[in-house]
Amino acid sequence: MGVLKGLKAMQSLERPAASEGGAKVRWVKLDDGQSAKVRFVNELDEDSPNYDAVRDLAIVVSEHTNPKDYKRKAVCTVESEGRCFGCEMARKEPKSGWRARFRFYTNLLVDDGLEDPYVAVWSQGVGKQSAFNTLKEYAIETGSISNRVWRMKRQGSGTDTTYILLPGDPDTDQHDWSGIEPFNLEKVVREVAYAEQESFYLGFDTPTSSNTANIDW
Ligand SMILES: [Zn+2]
Repeated sequence: MGVLKGLKAMQSLERPAASEGGAKVRWVKLDDGQSAKVRFVNELDEDSPNYDAVRDLAIVVSEHTNPKDYKRKAVCTVESEGRCFGCEMARKEPKSGWRARFRFYTNLLVDDGLEDPYVAVWSQGVGKQSAFNTLKEYAIETGSISNRVWRMKRQGSGTDTTYILLPGDPDTDQHDWSGIEPFNLEKVVREVAYAEQESFYLGFDTPTSSNTANIDW
C-alpha cells in the first residue's frame, strides 16, 4: 500500500500492518474425528437472499506459507506492493512449496456440544477435494449457505486435515442473528509489509502469542 486516498484508507493507518487489528481471533478447533454443528455467519455472495452487510461475506485470499513452517503464512503482496518475498522464493525454488495458494476464511457459529455456541474463524485451502468446493457448489445451486445448520467433521491432523460438511435442512424461520459478532476477516488474515517479510517467513522475528495462535488446520 503506497499512496492512501480518502478517510477510509487513512483510518487503516491506525492499525499495525502485521496484527489482527486488536480483537483476539478465535479459531475453530476440532480434534481428529470430532464433529460439531456449525452455521456459516458469512455468505459467499452479495446476491444471496440471506446476505447481510453486518455479517458480511467470506473471503478467499492468496497466501504464501513457509513450506518448513506452516504457521508462517501471510498474504501475497505482489499486487498491493508490487513485491512479495513469497513470490521471490517460489521463483528461486519452484518445487519447494512457496508458491501462493488461495485460502478461504469464514466466520462460523460453532456448537460442539461442550460449551455454548460461539463464533470462530475457519480457514481452508480451496483445492479440488476441499470442503470449500462443496460449499461453493451449494451456494451456486441453492443461493445460500447461512440458512441452515451443517454438520462438520474433522479428519486427520496437521497438513493432512480434511473436513467433511453435510448440509442440514434449510431454516423454516429466519435465523435470529442478534448478538452474533463476526470477526473482521480482512483483519484476521495476516498482512506483512514487504520489508518485514523475509524475517517473518524465515523466523528471524519473535512471533507474539497472537501470531502463534494462528493455527487453523
Ligand atoms: Zn506473492
